[in-house]
Amino acid sequence: MFILILGAPGSGKGTQGKLLAERLGLPKITTGDLLRAAMKDGTPLGLEAKKFYDDGKLVPDAIILGMIKAELDRPEATEGAILDGFPRTAAQAELVDKTLAKRGQRLNHILLLDVTEDELVRRMSRRAQVEGRADATPEAIKTRLQVYQRDTAPLIAHYAQRGNVRHVPGTGSVDQISEEIKRIIGR
Ligand code: ADP
Repeated sequence: MFILILGAPGSGKGTQGKLLAERLGLPKITTGDLLRAAMKDGTPLGLEAKKFYDDGKLVPDAIILGMIKAELDRPEATEGAILDGFPRTAAQAELVDKTLAKRGQRLNHILLLDVTEDELVRRMSRRAQVEGRADATPEAIKTRLQVYQRDTAPLIAHYAQRGNVRHVPGTGSVDQISEEIKRIIGR
């Protein structure tokens, strides 16, 4: 089973994705974590990504598409995965759709975590102090929210056309949200 968790930065995708992955025994693929690991290791990909990442901009598809393909093709992900942080652009969505379709698979559930913009900014700023992420300056936070609206939010309409997007209220306790997700996907 493939489950996509969509939502703005700060909406709780990582937290809910982790719980869901543990509950269902599926791997979670998180492009943000993969990029942070590459930057920490100082790989060529990491160094290139850092130029965009630190400003809160999307890392170009030329870099990300290969990473997504490789992750989906890993043996652990042949039966399913939780997708967190991608697809974020039309090209990434197309790659995911095509890769799964070739294998006779599809995104079984698309969950959209709904959180108001005020709450997103509050959460990202609070988290910034704890995590010390390079993309957590006020400017980078603003850019990340703008980029989400411009490049990623249109994917909601793309998937809504197929009728399998479910809105999940993203405010409430972690447990409440997780229960709601459980109810929606039925397990
Ligand atoms: P958040 O959703 O809170 O912004 P992420 O860890 O998902 O956190 O993403 C952080 C940054 O990593 C993004 O601003 C972007 O620079 C980069 N990134 C992560 N995933 C992708 C992706 N699929 N495509 C392009 N850039 C990405």
